[in-house]
Amino acid sequence: TAVDIENREGCNTTAAGIADLIAKAGDHVRDLPIRKVITSFAGLRAHEDHHEFIIGEVEDAPHFIDCAGIESPGLTSSPAIGEYVGAMMKEKMGLTEKENWIGTRKGIRSTEGLSVEERNEMIKENPAYGQIICRCESISEGEILDAIHRPLGARSLDGVKRRTRAGMGRCQAGFCSPRVMEILHRELGLSYEEITKSGGRSNLVIDRTKDASANAKEVE
Ligand SMILES: Cc1cc2nc3c(=O)[nH]c(=O)nc-3n(C[C@H](O)[C@H](O)[C@H](O)COP(=O)(O)OP(=O)(O)OC[C@H]3O[C@@H](n4cnc5c(N)ncnc54)[C@H](O)[C@@H]3O)c2cc1C
Repeated sequence: TAVDIENREGCNTTAAGIADLIAKAGDHVRDLPIRKVITSFAGLRAHEDHHEFIIGEVEDAPHFIDCAGIESPGLTSSPAIGEYVGAMMKEKMGLTEKENWIGTRKGIRSTEGLSVEERNEMIKENPAYGQIICRCESISEGEILDAIHRPLGARSLDGVKRRTRAGMGRCQAGFCSPRVMEILHRELGLSYEEITKSGGRSNLVIDRTKDASANAKEVE
């Protein structure tokens, strides 16, 4: 569903909005198990008045290609948009493909879907794959280490979550957050105060409890 709003940063959820969603979903699915919903979110779609994607070279900036107003189904369309823009650039700039071009990205090794034997083999190779950090999603320390140490590696809790699913399960990172923080601290040499949920000022730890209460008293 989508609702037009004026606030360009507003992605809050509301009780009325959720009630509306439940009512609409109820038209299709009887007895929807609402108690099983573990989180709710809203996002902003980049909206163009005529529901069109704007893809093209900017008039006053040659070779700068706009990909704007990419609202739904932008995700589904993204591989095609990539190919379209690639072909456009190729033609405009006379580009040729490298002979040794590697067109696929190596994913993070996952233990999901492996047989017990395959999993044991992986753990024998590297015991970190046997150390489960996120219980809800069964994500091992090995996968988190891979997510941190790959090119453009994870630097925050959400960075780890998006790459591995650690923290996406039923407990919503209640159990694994401190353990992922320990790994980020150890592997990247970040202090606990420097570790964030998703960059910026989203620090999870601000002080030691005793220091924090002493500082609070001083402020009083
Ligand atoms: C709630 C919701 C549901 C959706 N459902 C679907 C669906 O079911 N199917 C579907 O196909 N599409 C869906 N879409 C649409 C789809 O998500 C978007 O079309 C798609 O993500 C657009 O891709 P994009 O790369 O253009 O922009 P984005 O995915 O928004 O990427 C832009 C990136 O740029 C970064 N950025 C912004 N400013 C800066 C800056 N100054 N410096 C550095 N980085 C910056 C942002 O952090 C972001 O990572 C949905 C969108 C929403 C909000």
